[in-house]
Amino acid sequence: MKTIYADNAATTAMSDAAIRAMMPYLKEVYGNPSSLHTAGQTAKEALERARADIGGCLNADPREIYFTSGGSESDNQAIRSCAENGAVKGKKHIITTAFEHHAVLHTVKKLEKEGFEATYLGVGADGFVTAEQVKNAIRPDTALVTVMYANNEVGTIQPIREIGAVCRQAGVVFHTDAVQAVGHIPVDVKADNIDMLSLSAHKFHGPKGAGALYCRRGLPLKTFIEGGAQERGRRAGTENIGGICAMAEALKEACAGMKENTARLTALRDKIIDGLLKIPHSRLNGGRENRLPANVNMCFEGIEGEGLLLHLDARGICASSGSACTSGSLDPSHVLLALGLPHEIAHGSLRISLSEYNTEEDADAIIKAVPEVVKLLRDMSPVWDELEKGQRKHLIK
Ligand SMILES: *Cc1c(COP(=O)(O)O)cnc(C)c1O
Repeated sequence: MKTIYADNAATTAMSDAAIRAMMPYLKEVYGNPSSLHTAGQTAKEALERARADIGGCLNADPREIYFTSGGSESDNQAIRSCAENGAVKGKKHIITTAFEHHAVLHTVKKLEKEGFEATYLGVGADGFVTAEQVKNAIRPDTALVTVMYANNEVGTIQPIREIGAVCRQAGVVFHTDAVQAVGHIPVDVKADNIDMLSLSAHKFHGPKGAGALYCRRGLPLKTFIEGGAQERGRRAGTENIGGICAMAEALKEACAGMKENTARLTALRDKIIDGLLKIPHSRLNGGRENRLPANVNMCFEGIEGEGLLLHLDARGICASSGSACTSGSLDPSHVLLALGLPHEIAHGSLRISLSEYNTEEDADAIIKAVPEVVKLLRDMSPVWDELEKGQRKHLIK
């Protein structure tokens, strides 16, 4: 049985070009970039080439790119740095949204325990925040606004350029978790008025454990990992050269193929959405406009997302559900709850995230398998039985 991988928002397969770009740095060019000998300096040159390439893809200066271990570390460093810099000036207020990735949410929550105040902006039923909301939430003591570029569960693309403009106008630092955006949709840190941006290689066919933080020149960046003077003293630790070179290659490839991939993936995405919306009492989560080209997120009334996933897996389809199994109880996704979905509905969610490696046949197989599994699960579901008998009211029309 062929496996259909449709969980690319969780992670992607590395591209052949990225693997090729990585290989020389695992064996031949293994010098430490901090070493002064030729072996070290050859590695250093590769590192700086990767920095220039990544900067080029974002319209940033290479000196504004700091390599990290991935999206989580970049988010942590950006938010911590802004909080510390703000606190020095008596600014201890942070603005974010209710549906950020946990790398952002948990960092902000921790800062709240340390004496910061946070505003969590609502995201509306379609999964968008507005620049107006940000503007209204900014206070004289606001140290940071952090709003994700695109949501990892429902795929909604936020009005980052407008939010950035509002922040710039107010003189507040603006960070964006762009892990789901970079390599998938055009991102230009200058045009988008972004001060700080997080990205991660494994979300665009690069390797796991490599990422970057963009920090606009002139903005002070606090060190998060103490030690050596790597990354101009902002991030200690011997650089993951192979991973970094592969990341740069993957990003160049993603940006070069973006236009073509976007057209093809959007068509596949819409085909799947339309196919699955034929299932009675189903809904699409997140607006259809301004949505990542490869994201499908739907709810099916009367079933559990976990059951759906396991049955799809048994048929060779890898997808994801919003809910995470914590301490034996099923917590619905904070993202779907932020969209205002009731718990019962949020439990029956399915995320299908495609990549350019998916085919038309994959989409057809998904459109065939999901309705079958939903029917199977509904036939066994006591909740569905009550809905059918009219003992319970349908929450999805
Ligand atoms: C995957 C992801 C992260 C975490 O990135 P890692 O490189 O896995 O640490 C952060 N934010 C978003 C939106 C993501 O999708």
